[in-house]
Amino acid sequence: MTKLPNVSLSSWRDERLAEMFWATLLVSQMTRDDYLQLFREISERCADLEGKDWGGLGHTKLAEQSDDDFDKIVEPIAKREQFQLLSALSLFPDLPDAHHWARHVPNWEDPPERGYEDIALAVGLTSWHQSEAATDIRWLRVLSMILGGKVHFVGHTAKIGEEIVGFPDVGDMKAVRPAIRAAEQSLGSVEGPEAEEGTKEWTSNFWKQCKTETACIRAEPKRPTRVQLDGLFDNVVDVYRDMERHFHHQESFEAIDEKLDAVFGLTFYGLNLVLNLIAGNSYRRVEGRLIIRSLCECYIVLSYLLKVDSEKTWKQYRNYGQGQAKLAYLKSIDIESGQKPKFYSEEDLEDLANEDKWEEFLDIDLGSWSKKNLRSMSEDAGVKDVYDRYYGWASGYVHGHWSAVRDTVFDLCLNPLHRLHRIPAIPRANMNDCSEDSVKLLNLILEKLNQTFPTFKGRVKFPRQA
Ligand SMILES: [Zn+2]
Repeated sequence: MTKLPNVSLSSWRDERLAEMFWATLLVSQMTRDDYLQLFREISERCADLEGKDWGGLGHTKLAEQSDDDFDKIVEPIAKREQFQLLSALSLFPDLPDAHHWARHVPNWEDPPERGYEDIALAVGLTSWHQSEAATDIRWLRVLSMILGGKVHFVGHTAKIGEEIVGFPDVGDMKAVRPAIRAAEQSLGSVEGPEAEEGTKEWTSNFWKQCKTETACIRAEPKRPTRVQLDGLFDNVVDVYRDMERHFHHQESFEAIDEKLDAVFGLTFYGLNLVLNLIAGNSYRRVEGRLIIRSLCECYIVLSYLLKVDSEKTWKQYRNYGQGQAKLAYLKSIDIESGQKPKFYSEEDLEDLANEDKWEEFLDIDLGSWSKKNLRSMSEDAGVKDVYDRYYGWASGYVHGHWSAVRDTVFDLCLNPLHRLHRIPAIPRANMNDCSEDSVKLLNLILEKLNQTFPTFKGRVKFPRQA
């Protein structure tokens, strides 16, 4: 759809609903048969206006009508003595055609107490552009323009015109309803092919007033999924201890064994992350997503290193990390004393950078350590499926991408008069549980360790859920 040329998007709710506000009040308080009949009669009155400068049934255009013409249009409401259903109109001092409605709506000077509740109900019913209520009002717009002689369906579209006039009794509704909406959309924002300068004022005033005069409504927070983690923490700790023993059983006689350190190191790192995830409530919080992303990356990096399995690559992985420590160390020397971050110390960085050899002989590499991005590493290592399953969405939380931010800190306001805007949420602790995913990723890492340094049978069992 994004490739279609010359498409300008137009929103029923944001651009046109407020113009038909009077009709939304009727729809929300009458039976469907009654209001459809009423709308038909009103549209028939528009036929009498043929030839006159008449622009439709929106508030802005109705304001331009003479008293006589306006009264003629709303006569079917008068006939039914139903003007009191429109009393909420009197709450809006900016209503363009207020002078007309004031002649008919009882107690105009004394707005109803429950007015905003009625308005919220009406707007709530009609906001969604494909809802039955919205479609019915959109039908009123089109029908009035057809009967008022402003819109003509000719040639191959004549049948559509007949079906719209006969709505809801003629034709297949699955086709007629979308046809009504398409025709209504083509009428533009304020009845007329081109919206005129200044005609959108009412719409923006309407929403502004609704927002200022009514409060936000917060939804009950979603209850967190129940997850049974009994014994999981101890299980991870046991695997950690077994792995420690397994490490000491390796017969490595090098002072620096890049492969041994990397394989065990990444696996211990994964165990560490999972321990942290399940120790608190992180598996339901945003931190859990950061950990999933990290576990996924560790698994892909380890798989790639093992796939290539060359001395050069093991060194490259290690040197790159040490180069990063050196880089951070050099930068930190230049930071003024009061400005230095507290989560690392210069001494620690210096030690890490100099651990294998004097840092002066250590290159600082920029970019990725393997000169590949993680996606290609996962392809080379044959674990692209894991990348696809876990990496993309979890990365958004690390980078602060919009949808991750939205998911973490905002709720939807449920007041229909606020048009589903976002409001700050209570910090979320009810996200989907990610402990089981973390255990799956961890076991994949443990399996790599087992294949490289057999035999290591330790795995983490995710507790059976009731
Ligand atoms: Zn709100």
